[in-house]
Amino acid sequence: MDNGDLDPGTILAHDGRHPYDAVVPPIVQTSLFTFASYQEALRTFAGEEKRSIYSRVGNPTVAEFECRVAALEGAETARGFASGMAAISGAVLANVSAGERIVAVRHLYPDTYRLFETLLPRFGIRTDYVDGGDLAAVAAALPGARLLYLESPTSWVFETQDLAAIGALARRHDVLTIIDNSWATPLLQQPLRHGIDLVVHTASKYLSGHSDTVAGVVAGSTERIARLDAGVIPYLGAKLSPFDAWLLVRGLRTLEVRLRAHEQRALVVARWLAGRPEVIRVRHPALDGRVDGRQLLGSSGLFSFELRDGLSVERFVDALRLFRLGVSWGGHESLVFPAEITLRQAGGPNSARAFGVSPRTIRLHVGLETVADLLADLQRAMAASA
Ligand SMILES: *Cc1c(COP(=O)(O)O)cnc(C)c1O
Repeated sequence: MDNGDLDPGTILAHDGRHPYDAVVPPIVQTSLFTFASYQEALRTFAGEEKRSIYSRVGNPTVAEFECRVAALEGAETARGFASGMAAISGAVLANVSAGERIVAVRHLYPDTYRLFETLLPRFGIRTDYVDGGDLAAVAAALPGARLLYLESPTSWVFETQDLAAIGALARRHDVLTIIDNSWATPLLQQPLRHGIDLVVHTASKYLSGHSDTVAGVVAGSTERIARLDAGVIPYLGAKLSPFDAWLLVRGLRTLEVRLRAHEQRALVVARWLAGRPEVIRVRHPALDGRVDGRQLLGSSGLFSFELRDGLSVERFVDALRLFRLGVSWGGHESLVFPAEITLRQAGGPNSARAFGVSPRTIRLHVGLETVADLLADLQRAMAASA
């Protein structure tokens, strides 16, 4: 696909030429690719010829997805993974060694936090957490670190980081930067343009958009992605499958229109909640003034709020009919999830601090239902919570 200087929406809707002049790329559902000759195999394995060998390391349908994400992120290349966590653990493990230190922003996506707190320490890798909004704190933590891991906005509390300032700081200390850009998608935030080194996404959320795929992706320069190719992808073996890649290519076509609809509906819902007496505070990057048109170009459909003391989170959640109770987000359907359950899962006295939420925090994903129906649903649940 040659994207030249096309607008992101055009890249996703438009398509190149495929076999049989089909408008949709085929699903190349094969495990291996055969060679015409000994010499061709030899050249391929020596790296002199680029072609598919085995779908654990590369596949043409997966490449269709990868090249679209790379174009959207302004990256030279990208790699699809079997999940967002596979993308995150792959990007991290390709770049840290025993005895090295990671600096991460606080309030990470819970399974990323657990990766840093449970698996990595077994290999002698330690993580320090900082308030990513405090540049002095970030600067103080960086000397001697190998990697700075960002998530902007963060899960649950939606804190943001100044990517250009942080990227410059990290470069000064020769620290590699990785950001989880799942909430904003490359349509609303392009971290590489602000000096961040690698972007990771769960593709299970907005990139898919239909709650039917678990997948992930890492985007960056050819050189940085080559480190993943050489160091982790063949051995961790968590490559994206051709069928999931095909679903993602299909999901991406409507990313721009879906995201606009999520944004508009979520803003109406968030403002409505902010005006309710039952609600103490709403955490939404646009309401918090974080959509600056420079780094963050808009907002998506995920945010959280806190219910006043004395009201029942359980009765509120159970009274909802359209907002269904479940993890994940980014699909067509509206979802609710109470922080209390996440905190219980996480366990330990530090979990509330780690995720930055009180047990009265409730996360909403505003889907593609009509907003009047969603407000009526919330209104009923507010009454039930009393
Ligand atoms: C869901 C999620 C992930 C993990 O992605 P999976 O595809 O579920 O492995 C990572 N980061 C964020 C912000 C997420 O919401």
